[in-house]
Amino acid sequence: MTRKKENKKKSALNVQLGIDQPSRINPSLSKGNSRFRKDKVSVESIYKGIIDGDRTFLSRGITLIESVLETDEHDSHKLMKSCLPHSGKSVRIGITGVPGVGKSTFIETLGLNLIKLGMKVAVLAIDPSSKRTKGSILGDKTRMEELSVNDNAYIRPSASLGTLGGVARATREALVLCEAAGFDVILIETVGVGQSETAVSQIVDFFLLLMLAGGGDELQGIKRGIMEMADLIVINKADGDNIKKAEIAAQNYRNALHLFPILENGWSPDVVTSSAIQNIGIDHVWKKILEYVDHTKSNGFFDSRRRNQSLDIMSETIEESLRKRFINSPSILSLMDGYKKQILDDELNPYDVAGELIDKFLKDIEENK
Ligand code: GDP
Repeated sequence: MTRKKENKKKSALNVQLGIDQPSRINPSLSKGNSRFRKDKVSVESIYKGIIDGDRTFLSRGITLIESVLETDEHDSHKLMKSCLPHSGKSVRIGITGVPGVGKSTFIETLGLNLIKLGMKVAVLAIDPSSKRTKGSILGDKTRMEELSVNDNAYIRPSASLGTLGGVARATREALVLCEAAGFDVILIETVGVGQSETAVSQIVDFFLLLMLAGGGDELQGIKRGIMEMADLIVINKADGDNIKKAEIAAQNYRNALHLFPILENGWSPDVVTSSAIQNIGIDHVWKKILEYVDHTKSNGFFDSRRRNQSLDIMSETIEESLRKRFINSPSILSLMDGYKKQILDDELNPYDVAGELIDKFLKDIEENK
């Protein structure tokens, strides 16, 4: 033993052997145990805060449901379960259009108009593809400047969970929390380039497509499928020299819509014009939305759409949790790499491997491993 070590051992500053040294840090506070993170707030407090309409707690709640940590899963489910009975009362509106069409300007103007009418407005985004995902909406400070500081508004950027499925799930759950917090209208923004619209149509009651005049027949990169999904098309930037062009475009799109099959809800989507920047035509858009809500509530479509959305949510949740359990099961994990290698080396075919792994997984469950 070196002299230094010997001295240290004899030092009066050390507790002598036989007496338990207390841990310097509380083990519950150790890294990785998110339950006891310094800023951790209980699910009950988050829930109460949300029900009180407190936006800070709403943000905490959304962060919790967006978490991919396994340790947060339990709390996240608990929060969702408590908030669900308080949800369902808002009008959920999807807004899409190519970048630059004026989505955020439109949302800001519509949002402020609705607030003037005494409503509370939440804005969520689905934007899994974009590089500006982290902090999208708020990342660009010029977006929704007035709305973002209004007490009756809540703006939340897209979750950065990577996959579209993940982002769509998080947005759907964020919507439930916003409703529980008393928001009357939820606007969900997507970038109209294709993939996220289908996901958003499984969340919203009404789907609004923003377009520009003069885009020509190629529909400005908007796929025909997205036009078919729209409950209303709005030709934006109908101001200044653009008014006439916008009206002509609206008529052309109206004609085009007539060629589409009639929607099962009996609603005929219309085409209107707006100037988001000058607040022209936005009230008319809101009237159209209310008309749609009335129409579909009276023919039962509004509720049946939501019920079907609930069925979709159930199927997706089953798929996702089965997948998670399968992928994380220790015996599957231990076999996976070997099997993958054998497939790559052409020694086994993927169908046999998939079948074997599933059989193994089910057998483990049966034997309670
Ligand atoms: P987003 O990318 O779809 O969210 O579009 P933005 O709302 O950021 O708008 C893109 C640009 O179009 C901005 O410079 C806006 O000021 C402008 N803009 C938006 N709405 C209108 C409008 O109604 N009229 C005119 N003239 N410009 C608009």
